[in-house]
Amino acid sequence: MGLAENLNSIQERIRAAATRAGRDPASVMLLAVSKTHTPDTVAEAARLGLSVFGESKVQEAKAKIPLCPGKLRWHMIGHLQSNKCRDAVRLFQMIESVDSLALAEELNQRADQAARTLPILLEVNMVGEASKFGYKPAQLLEEFKAINELPRLEIHGLMTIPPWTPTPEKVRPVFAQLRTLKQECEQLLGAPLPHISMGMSGDFEVAIEEGATIVRIGTALFGERPKAR
Ligand SMILES: *Cc1c(COP(=O)(O)O)cnc(C)c1O
Repeated sequence: MGLAENLNSIQERIRAAATRAGRDPASVMLLAVSKTHTPDTVAEAARLGLSVFGESKVQEAKAKIPLCPGKLRWHMIGHLQSNKCRDAVRLFQMIESVDSLALAEELNQRADQAARTLPILLEVNMVGEASKFGYKPAQLLEEFKAINELPRLEIHGLMTIPPWTPTPEKVRPVFAQLRTLKQECEQLLGAPLPHISMGMSGDFEVAIEEGATIVRIGTALFGERPKAR
């Protein structure tokens, strides 16, 4: 299937999942995960109306973004090292993968040098998988206030990557727990957080039913990625 057909089918599935949950489909943002894909593919997706793209490596984004249409928005969704923060602040409109106070402080400093505010999401490792980055929930609640005090960062919500499973229903409780954790953060903050980024190609409908406002979709849109070497 081509990109246009894939996109139609994903949009239909997003609409259906939102409707099942009594939500407005327009409250769900489709983030097109373009890692490993070329600027030509991004341009084709942009012609079909997609405007927000996700990349997981600063180096790849640095080479790719200048070759893509200019009006797109980019989210960083992969683990970020402190020596890449300066480029990240220049390249991305949002960093979804903030997972420590030290990283937040570095981003704050780089955003200050660039005289901009930087929207961020805090990445949470809900089930403590050793292979994944992200805050443990208790640690997130401990550092939340300190991050919120960094003047150049704006916390827009939470992000998670659940354990991989062929059965999306199995990760429904993980999505529900992230939503509860967001409510706890909102209580600390005394204000609502607009975003909860969860759901990928295999599980985005369940994520939407559990409250996702950003779904990060690569494979279902662009096809299989080449295997990592
Ligand atoms: C690659 C990636 C995705 C997209 O995964 P698909 O299963 O291809 O849709 C989503 N989120 C993150 C953080 C990723 O690294």
